[in-house]
This record gives sequence, structure tokens and C-alpha cells, in this order.
Amino acid sequence: MTGYSELAALVSGPVLTASEPGFADEVAAFISSTTHTPDVVVGATSPHDVVQAVRFARSNRLPVRVQSTGHGAFAPIAAGMLVTTNRLNDLDVDHVSRIAAIGAGVRWAAVVEAAAEHGLAPITGSSPNVGAVGFLAGGGLGPLSRSHGFASDYIRGFSVVTGDGELREATSEENPDLFWALRGGKGGLGIVTEVRVELVELSSLYGGALFFEEQHIDTVLRAWIDWTATAPDDVTTSVGIFRLPPFDFIPEPLRGRTVIALRFARPGTAGDGERIAAPLRSIAPVYLDLLGELPPGQIGAIHNDPTDPGPGWDRGMLLTGVDQDFATALLSQVGSGRDVPFLLAEMRHLGGATRTDVAGGSAVGGRASDFTFSLIGVPDVSLFDTVLPEVSDRIVTAIGRWVSPETNINFAGRPRSYEHFVSAWPAVTFERLASVRRRYDPDGVLPYGPVRG
Ligand SMILES: Cc1cc2nc3c(=O)[nH]c(=O)nc-3n(C[C@H](O)[C@H](O)[C@H](O)COP(=O)(O)OP(=O)(O)OC[C@H]3O[C@@H](n4cnc5c(N)ncnc54)[C@H](O)[C@@H]3O)c2cc1C
Repeated sequence: MTGYSELAALVSGPVLTASEPGFADEVAAFISSTTHTPDVVVGATSPHDVVQAVRFARSNRLPVRVQSTGHGAFAPIAAGMLVTTNRLNDLDVDHVSRIAAIGAGVRWAAVVEAAAEHGLAPITGSSPNVGAVGFLAGGGLGPLSRSHGFASDYIRGFSVVTGDGELREATSEENPDLFWALRGGKGGLGIVTEVRVELVELSSLYGGALFFEEQHIDTVLRAWIDWTATAPDDVTTSVGIFRLPPFDFIPEPLRGRTVIALRFARPGTAGDGERIAAPLRSIAPVYLDLLGELPPGQIGAIHNDPTDPGPGWDRGMLLTGVDQDFATALLSQVGSGRDVPFLLAEMRHLGGATRTDVAGGSAVGGRASDFTFSLIGVPDVSLFDTVLPEVSDRIVTAIGRWVSPETNINFAGRPRSYEHFVSAWPAVTFERLASVRRRYDPDGVLPYGPVRG
């Protein structure tokens, strides 16, 4: 280790530079096509380590960034300090107060499993493999969005090291401006060491996915769009048009096939769920029916997201006013018979509880929109900077009338410009976030997002 011995003496975790063994593993991200090359990486083992790292960075004018799992690693970190949090994996589920205290390195799977033992659940996303803190800081949408709202609505407090090197509590009583900001404002606000979330009662769930073959894509998408107009608020559905490669890890019935999956989640009994899902089941012949009573601890099975690291390219946005003209426009690009280089074109239905902000407000972007829309590129790195942006531009132009001016930072993909980044929050929220950042990070130690051009 060169140049950082002073820092290494202050922290218990590893302090590594690029030439040292262990560096590549320490900076590795779930999005494996991104290679981080910070000047130094600090593997934090405690809030104390995080405090020391941020203070050292502040004194030495090093920008600091944070990584837990690397599910959000769409842009490489090429300089400064990276603090990794995967060792901060304390988890405490108190079934009496129904509060889970979650360390910054904990993935949702651990929280879901521990809560399910008590008939409780956190409001998670599609993938149990994602880090709880990074997900929550961006708002967090998942299979319980319409029934329960954004995951960040359930946050009761943070322990966070701010850019001035102080370990603070952020709750509705202590540092309430920071608490407001961290519920949706995501980056540049501090390095969270622990988050506390309220769990909800969830003893039964009707959930899963219905798969339809390629020739039914148009019918299913159109019927689903109509169905969402009157869908009950406690049902969260999404559709994914999958073009699956012939890879071994993809289960045989889906390997190498183009299909449309209709995902469904409703807290409650199987009988009610089955009745509500009946019109969806009868849209077209179901190729693979994986919808039924689902133990809440297996909520990740609804989307069945990949769990192994791999190359990643995604582009996301929110939609409003979706109708049959939208379906025509989208299907002209990604419908059956189209050959596009995307593993997945996905829409998730929002609304219901996502519309209502928490008492006192929060910084989440996207409450006014009706759907998310994401394109996940084929995992061929040679297409990432050329073909995928070009083809996705064509698709986004075709559906441009329905793209919301606002987005949500967890669904924006890699920020393509300052303007794109800013659109992840309503303008007034973005201004307020900037002022909270200046207050807690006066020297700008925690950079976030592209700089205004
Ligand atoms: C397969 C997959 C499925 C996903 N599904 C959903 C979904 O259903 N719903 C949804 O809303 N999002 C989803 N996302 C997006 C995901 O929630 C964000 O990318 C999230 O930021 C990932 O957090 P992480 O800690 O796992 O990733 P990381 O790449 O480690 O972190 C991403 C960012 O989170 C912030 N962050 C992480 N740790 C801390 C910390 N300790 N303190 C402060 N900030 C921190 C930082 O800004 C960091 O750059 C998905 C992403 C993937 C790749």
C-alpha cells in the first residue's frame, strides 16, 4: 500500500490501491462490465471506519463514493476513494416493534427471510439480491408498490456519515431535512451505515408470473394495458417482453425463446387473488403458469431477476397516459417478429399507494407517473456504446408522447446528461436536495451525478 498508511492505521478494514492484491475483488460490481479504478478503496467494517475514511478524504481533497453490491454500477468510478460497505451486514428484526435495523451491506434477501419468520415483510424490489440501502435511498419500487407504496415511505431512521465526516442520525426529529432528502434523493448526502424500516404484516401472498408465447405478445400487452385502467389498488402487475438467449442458466422452457411475462402480486388469500387474476389468465393460452399462492419469503420469485454478476446495460423512464396508441407505438418496435437487441422491455404499473407521500414529505421522484419503462440490453459489451443507444433512441422516440418529463433515479439507468439526471426529481425537490447537500457536505466531498454542461 502506497500513500495511504496513515488512513490504514485509522481503520480496521482493508485499504487498497490498484497495485495491491485484493483490490479488483474489493471494487468488483454486480454490473461486471463496469470496472472501477479509484485511487483507493476502503472496505469499511464499522461506522467508525466510514467516519475515518470520509475525514481523511476531506482533508486530502479526495472525492468519495460508496458501493454495496454494485447493482447500480452503470458508470465507472475512475478516481478518488471508494468506500465499500459489504462488511456492514448486521441485521436485527424486532417483531414486536416491527422495525428492521439493516446494515449498509445487507441485501434484501436476508431481511425478507428474517421478517417472514414472523409473518412480516419489508417493502422490497424485484430482486432480493439488491442492497437494501441503495434501493431505499432511491425510493424503491417492487411487487408491493401499488398495495404499499415506495419502500422509502417505510424508513424510520438512518445512521449516516455526512460529507463533513460526522456520524449523524436522520429521523423525523433529528436532522429532519437530511431524513427527507435520504428518502429518495439517493447520492451525495452521506454514507449510510444503517437504515431502520418498518415491516408490514404479510402472511399470505398471491403472486408469480404468467408466460405467453411470442405470437401473443401484442394481444397480451394490449389487454393488460386496458386491464390496468381499472386494476384494484392492492394489485401490482408488470409485463416483460423477454428475448432470452440460449444460455444454460435459463430454465429449459424459456431458454432461447421470446415470450411476454405478466407478473402479478396481491397480498391476501389465493382465492381472491385467483379471482382478480382470472381476466389476465384468459387473455391468451398461457404457456407457463407460475402464478399462485406464494410464501411471502419467496417474493423474489415473481420477477426472478438474475443473481449472478454479469455485464449490464439499461435505460429507464416513467410513462403517463398510456393507451392503445401507445401499445401500437411500442409494439411496432418490440412486438412479435421484431428483432431488437434487448433481453427485456418491461413496464411496471404504478399508482395506488405510490401516489401518496409520507407525512412531512420525502424526496422521491416519480409519484405522478403511471408506469415504469425499462430496456435491458443483451449482455454483449461491444454493443453498449453503439447499437444499444441507437436502437433504444428509436424506441424511445416512437413512444415519446407518453414518456413522463420526470423519472425516478432507481429507474433512470446510467445518467446520459446533466438534464437527464436532474429529471429524476421534480425541479423543486432537486433544488432542495442541492441545498441539503451543501449544508451537510460543504466541501463537496461526496460528488453525485454529472456536472452541468
Ligand atoms: C437486477 C436489478 C434489479 C433491480 N430491481 C429494482 C427494483 O425492483 N426496484 C427499484 O427501485 N430498483 C431496482 N433496481 C435498481 C437498484 O435499486 C439500484 O441500482 C440501487 O441503487 C442498488 O443498490 P446497491 O447497493 O445494490 O447497488 P450499488 O451499486 O452498490 O449502489 C448504488 C448506489 O446506491 C447508493 N448507495 C449504496 N450504498 C449506500 C450507502 N451505504 N449510503 C449511501 N448511498 C448508498 C449510492 O448512490 C450508490 O452509487 C434494480 C437493479 C438491478 C441491477
